[in-house]
Amino acid sequence: MEIKRGKKMEIKRDDTVLVITGKDKGKRGRVREVHPADDKIVIEGLNLVKKHTRGSMGARQAGVVEIEAPLKAGKVMVVCPSCNRGVRVGHTVLANGQKVRQCRHCGANFDRDGIEEKWGGHR
Ligand SMILES: [Zn+2]
Repeated sequence: MEIKRGKKMEIKRDDTVLVITGKDKGKRGRVREVHPADDKIVIEGLNLVKKHTRGSMGARQAGVVEIEAPLKAGKVMVVCPSCNRGVRVGHTVLANGQKVRQCRHCGANFDRDGIEEKWGGHR
């Protein structure tokens, strides 16, 4: 029996990513949402699409608004803070057993300890 595994999402919220293809190619932005099921992410200020809204009663925003449309995760690379460019993501396990993502170039750790608190803490 074979377990089908989708490509693992290497991108997490608040990562800075570089768009490598499409109309926003070369731009960077911070990841606002990840949708692993769809393999899509939403990046702040990127992949904007215009949406026409009809001012319903009381709404003052009739016209066109720009919203951030989800982008295929495969169209971006995570930006390494030390290399300062889009890099491939590798994995390593820290001494404390925590699995982290790291830069395949320089080995910088993307998931600095503390990410657990970030998720487990307030919210
Ligand atoms: Zn690096």
